[in-house]
Amino acid sequence: MAVENNWHPKIKEFVRHIRDHAASRNVRLYFSPRKYIKDASTPKGLLGYFIEPDSEDSGRIVVAYKHPMPTVIHTLAHEYAHFIQWEERMACYVKDHYIAQERNAEIRAIKLLYEFQIPIDLQVRERQALRYIAKLHRED
Ligand SMILES: [Zn+2]
Repeated sequence: MAVENNWHPKIKEFVRHIRDHAASRNVRLYFSPRKYIKDASTPKGLLGYFIEPDSEDSGRIVVAYKHPMPTVIHTLAHEYAHFIQWEERMACYVKDHYIAQERNAEIRAIKLLYEFQIPIDLQVRERQALRYIAKLHRED
């Protein structure tokens, strides 16, 4: 059973949009039944990631889904934003400037959540995004 089966129709529509858009570029969307995805870059693991396709393999958008739904949707929007950065060959993506890339992904994620009228508390998501961006700058 797909993870989004019990979700609100607006959210299902958002997931479908992402799945179709990604598929058009040979990128697959996966929900992973865990809290964090193991990765060498961080001891805790990742909430999600995007990896671009190459000549051999499909790309992937992967989102860990053992979290409250608003967190999962926010992560999904963020990773989808990285996909769009890649697709548009945005300067922040191409130059691999981590903070610029992350900030842009968060701004896009929030815009997408509004655009698709995702029925979660979007002010909470905005505050979360600002906290995350502030944290990146502190760690820089
Ligand atoms: Zn990111």
